[in-house]
Amino acid sequence: MESPLVIPVFIPHSGCPHQCAFCNQSIITSRKRCLPDPEEIDEIIGQYLRFKGNRSRVELAFFGGNFLGLPESDILWLLEKVRPYIENQSIQGIRCSTRPDTVTEQTLDLIRPHGVTLVELGVQSMADSVLNQSNRGHKSFHTRQAIGLLQAYGIQVGVQMMVGLPGDTTAQLMDSTKQISALGPDVARIYPLMVLEGSLLARWYREGSYLPLGLDQSVYLVKEMCKIFNQADVAVIRMGLQASEMMEDATRVLAGPWHPAFGHLVLSALVYDQVCEKLDAFLVLDMGNPMIEGARVIHILLRVHPRFVSRLRGDKNSNLEKLENAYPDLRFSIQTDETLMPGEMAIQKDPAWG
Ligand code: SF4
Repeated sequence: MESPLVIPVFIPHSGCPHQCAFCNQSIITSRKRCLPDPEEIDEIIGQYLRFKGNRSRVELAFFGGNFLGLPESDILWLLEKVRPYIENQSIQGIRCSTRPDTVTEQTLDLIRPHGVTLVELGVQSMADSVLNQSNRGHKSFHTRQAIGLLQAYGIQVGVQMMVGLPGDTTAQLMDSTKQISALGPDVARIYPLMVLEGSLLARWYREGSYLPLGLDQSVYLVKEMCKIFNQADVAVIRMGLQASEMMEDATRVLAGPWHPAFGHLVLSALVYDQVCEKLDAFLVLDMGNPMIEGARVIHILLRVHPRFVSRLRGDKNSNLEKLENAYPDLRFSIQTDETLMPGEMAIQKDPAWG
């Protein structure tokens, strides 16, 4: 399905009851703590609509704060501000991000008539001890309750999860992902935790009581989470923070597993696992087990759709290198094949080598 053009309107920290330990939205959004002016919203919408191209759907998103934690009057004027654009059909829906503990019948009754189609919940984790250590101030039952309520109101549900939270473990993270998947959200975003200046986490990092995850470890964890979401048919729409000058600024982002193409690294890692799985089956079923026969090099041809080649190769050909290390008796070539679907892969003995 074609993804909509999303017009982000940032409301940094607005509606937040306090600052969570890892958060500094003023740095992420490059805005001071405040709501935008009505004129500014018109300006942002105008700028984005000029780049709409031939996309059929446009949504406006109030991100960077706790939308449903705002005073009712603010929620209403922000939504009313978008109404003319919905009425003239230049915008088809509104999204907002909010804390799970702000989703109540009262807040949903307030927003339902105003074209809100998707609410993104800052879930972060389903382990209460982890939520507690990050000063989230809500518990996992708020998330369960919020997702159930949104579904009952017919509003799509997005979930945002974090990797590398203080006190989290691999087992807890996978368990959180399974619990969230089972609740049936529509989309998910996964963010590796970065240490932002001005956050409580920055203090813990300087004191040495918080150590950020490494890049490889983060890619591995997000890849495993993706597998869980994929199995549950939950679309993962974002992995890692958007590349920007700010993310490269070491005075603002102090540490963390930053990579400008984090999502690509995860998708390549997923493809690597997929190749290994298919290859193992191919070696046993189609060729006997050459590892046992040993002694000769076998040339393998991997065929994929052209749009899939860079994922198959991995960052700087890292997937091919890993494959040749993992299967020292095999040599790999890649061929593009437009008849395959993106994501599909065919494995065969390379006919060029007889
Ligand atoms: S994580 Fe969300 S709720 Fe917490 S301070 Fe940041 S914007 Fe507010």
